[in-house]
Amino acid sequence: MNEVLLSNGVKMPQLGLGVWKSGVGKALNIAMHTAMDCGYRHFDTASFYENEEGVGQAIKESSIDRKDVFVTTKVWNDDQGYEQTLSAFDISLKKLNIEYIDLYLVHWPVSGMYLETWKALEYLYDQGAVKAIGVSNFLKHHLDDLLVHSSIKPMVNQLEHHPYLVQKNLQQFCKKENIQFEAWSPLMQGDIFKIPLLEKLAEQYGKSIAQIVLRWNIQNDIVVIPKSIHADRIRENAAILDFEIKAQDMAAIDALDQNKRMGPDPDVFV
Ligand code: NDP
Repeated sequence: MNEVLLSNGVKMPQLGLGVWKSGVGKALNIAMHTAMDCGYRHFDTASFYENEEGVGQAIKESSIDRKDVFVTTKVWNDDQGYEQTLSAFDISLKKLNIEYIDLYLVHWPVSGMYLETWKALEYLYDQGAVKAIGVSNFLKHHLDDLLVHSSIKPMVNQLEHHPYLVQKNLQQFCKKENIQFEAWSPLMQGDIFKIPLLEKLAEQYGKSIAQIVLRWNIQNDIVVIPKSIHADRIRENAAILDFEIKAQDMAAIDALDQNKRMGPDPDVFV
């Protein structure tokens, strides 16, 4: 798997497995093991997904060294604030049962709360409890505010990103600030499969539509975390390193942008 280098020198695998709605039991366990068997070393969970135990358990069951696995979890909106975040972190760490967390994210920019939450993340980072800290669903104005009021810059911003929501300006801003852009719902929660241009490109490159879209992320230096509980799709989503999308096709995918969200608007949701 390709890796990106975060601003603090931590390496982050560019492709990970998202586990929102992957359940808590057997299906999640099989998905995790399938993913590890075919080379995934990065898993994206959150306290909100209620499956941190299952993620941690599958990692423990595998023969992969802890240091070779990258685990992200997130502090949920109801737990924001300095003390609450520290407590939420302890609970997540206990559930995951994996000694440390690689990346801890503020899940959403809860108005009036996220600066205090961020201070707690800075504390956890300084204590060495987490290898990197970041945010999720932070738009430019949230980042502007955070950058003025923080002593550690977020290393990652995880955002909804797919061909109908490209957010080029935000991508460029994150790049300029050395904040790694990470894409959630990269497959539009299963809705990318009816887009004619992607069908045409998939045929042209002899790849699936999912592979075209995930490869578009990789070539844009974006970290991407597709979710699947199906073994064949988990494998398919990882087989994206043996081809290159041409510049004009990359631009054509960018041009599909409609500023259309599948998930909530960060300015409205919290
Ligand atoms: P995705 O865009 O990853 O799409 C997942 C859907 O696509 C599922 O229905 C899956 O079905 C299907 N799918 C996956 N691979 C293929 C394939 N190769 N061919 C056909 N269908 C496929 O949606 P998510 O919303 O789950 O986003 C990914 C991850 O991002 C989440 O799991 C979570 O970790 C993170 N996330 C973060 C958020 C945040 O606020 N920070 C918000 C939302 C998500 P099936 O499982 O049945 O195979």
